[in-house]
Amino acid sequence: MYMCAHCAVKACYKNEKDKMPPNCPMQDLSKYEGIKELYQDDENSRLFGESCKIEHDGYCQWNRVFETIEFIKRMGYQHIGIVFCVGLQREAAVFDRLLREHGLKTSSLICKNGGFDKNEFGVEDEYKLKGGGYEAACNPIAQAKLMEEEGTDFNVVMGLCVGHDSLFFKYTNTPFTVLVVKDRVLAHNPCAALYGAEGYFKNEGYFKTKFGLPPKTQQK
Ligand code: SF4
Repeated sequence: MYMCAHCAVKACYKNEKDKMPPNCPMQDLSKYEGIKELYQDDENSRLFGESCKIEHDGYCQWNRVFETIEFIKRMGYQHIGIVFCVGLQREAAVFDRLLREHGLKTSSLICKNGGFDKNEFGVEDEYKLKGGGYEAACNPIAQAKLMEEEGTDFNVVMGLCVGHDSLFFKYTNTPFTVLVVKDRVLAHNPCAALYGAEGYFKNEGYFKTKFGLPPKTQQK
């Protein structure tokens, strides 16, 4: 099994291939056959090249919103889709405005489009947030398909739920990037949990205590 997350050598990164650990994927170079050629594909080559230039030009200076708009412009995309969660509508509207100010055409689609009750997608009442009655289902497959009908050149994902985003990724055929990863507890900054898990909460059963707060049942 590959264990790059725990590699202390990083022979790939430092170009010290004589030091690669035994479970390094580079031990078997045949696994890389044909990979370089894929970067020669026209679209792949542009996506890769422009992202490297963005990394270079804005390194530690440009925030992600800036980088995203810059990338869109450098790629020459004209029509941008914003695929967003109902909980981030305000942020989606701001991003939409910024794109328009840069002369881009936009389409935006909320997660609840279609207005299906969660029951219609097989979710039982006990798993609804309010326990019963109409509760609109997220509809990431429709977000992918309807955005394709819109004919966008490039889509930007803002805060789809974990797993719903997997369905959007599965069904979209348009290049996309993720601008916002939803984390309802940590202001959409999941890395805070990872930093916390190595910090103050290291010995506290971090994931049991939900960022140091007692479980809901004990709060009453
Ligand atoms: S040297 Fe090998 S194992 Fe270590 S990070 Fe690089 S690819 Fe992964």
